[in-house]
Amino acid sequence: MADELLSFDAVLERFDPVLGLEVHVELSTKSKMWCGCPTEFGNEPNSQVCPVCLGLPGSLPVVNAKAVESAIRIGLSLNCQIARWCRFARKNYFYPDMPKDYQISQYDEPLCFDGEIAVEVGEMAYQVPIERVHMEEDAGKITHIGGVGRIANADYSLLDYNRAGVPLMEIVTKTIHDTGAAAPEVAAGYVALLRDMVRALAVSQGRMERGNLRCDVNVSLMPKGASELGIRSETKNVNSLRAVADAVRYEMRRQGAILSAGGRVVQETRHWNEAGYTTAGRSKETAEDYRYFPEPDLVPLAADPAWVEQLRATLPEHPGKRRARLRTEWGFTQREFGDILAVPGALDTIADTVLAGATPIAARKWWLTELARRANEWGVALDELPITAKQVAEVQALLDTGQINDKLARQVIEGVLAGEGDPAAVVQHRGLTVVSDTGALEVAVDGAIAADP
Ligand SMILES: [Zn+2]
Repeated sequence: MADELLSFDAVLERFDPVLGLEVHVELSTKSKMWCGCPTEFGNEPNSQVCPVCLGLPGSLPVVNAKAVESAIRIGLSLNCQIARWCRFARKNYFYPDMPKDYQISQYDEPLCFDGEIAVEVGEMAYQVPIERVHMEEDAGKITHIGGVGRIANADYSLLDYNRAGVPLMEIVTKTIHDTGAAAPEVAAGYVALLRDMVRALAVSQGRMERGNLRCDVNVSLMPKGASELGIRSETKNVNSLRAVADAVRYEMRRQGAILSAGGRVVQETRHWNEAGYTTAGRSKETAEDYRYFPEPDLVPLAADPAWVEQLRATLPEHPGKRRARLRTEWGFTQREFGDILAVPGALDTIADTVLAGATPIAARKWWLTELARRANEWGVALDELPITAKQVAEVQALLDTGQINDKLARQVIEGVLAGEGDPAAVVQHRGLTVVSDTGALEVAVDGAIAADP
């Protein structure tokens, strides 16, 4: 099916895009949110279940303290307030992926609220306001057999509850305004920053391709000069950074065409298709449909402020701040630094090489040229190459002391990658030193002149 699309430039001439992003982060706790079942991925279906996560009558949930700790650390990293007292809520819905017929979540009393984080796109920084970070549980997995993989035409469906009850954090932004033409990149940049943040905090693996981190993308358009928000669409479970940007761009163009033709955007859930477009899903449920009420099986959560401050003291350096600090320390232009950020893993490998003694310019040069080329050829990430940051710094040290020249340095790197040992060993073994002993040179020159006066 083909939607009518307005060109991106025409959309920007007539409308201001407004974004809202909901990111689900699966935590990497050892046990589930309300029971002691393991969370390990990929085991035999229904081998990690118990009466609690199967929702059997009479079973009662108990909160996972580590998950609460992780949620607070995420909230603090997003500059949120941490609630002194909050409750869990029952979100009622009937679908077999949730055997209790409700999901334990949080509704009007989230654990973390009112945060803010800066997302850099090129030379610009965009403030993304955070509405809330709340805790909930993941659902089980349904596989529909027969038909087109949807429940409607399936012959039968298989249920695996290993994932039911795995801790999930939902991070919700307020509406994000004034991003203009950068809207797709701001959305993707925000998700990338969250991914780097949960990894730095070691609370989640943050791998989008494995579904540890999934994003729902809300987009609406406001006619230029209007003061009221437009009607939004929500594209569910977008699972790569590129798809986040593409989904924003597509929805802007689709809604732009509808509004320009005098139509109305329907508030609905949409699906992202890998081929690069969205399709209509069900009409969006409203909060009333879920009949939220406070979860009667769990006591309220009151995080001790002293504990929260202790957790604040353990936060690693914020990825955004780290980037800004390194750029200043290294003295790179925005563009030179942007080239580093564009290569996955380059920032960390370059930082490690600088720590091992190389100059930032030399470290950047090796990782972004010679080594990026090798990584590309082999189809691996930079940090998966069989050379360490320390070895790269050693190659540079050999260059700086004049023992090898640039051309030989490339051969030394080739030798290290081939498993011939450390740079010094490769130099030795391949006989790669530059002859810079003037005594030896003088003897050779004298000899040449004597032989042919
Ligand atoms: Zn269980």
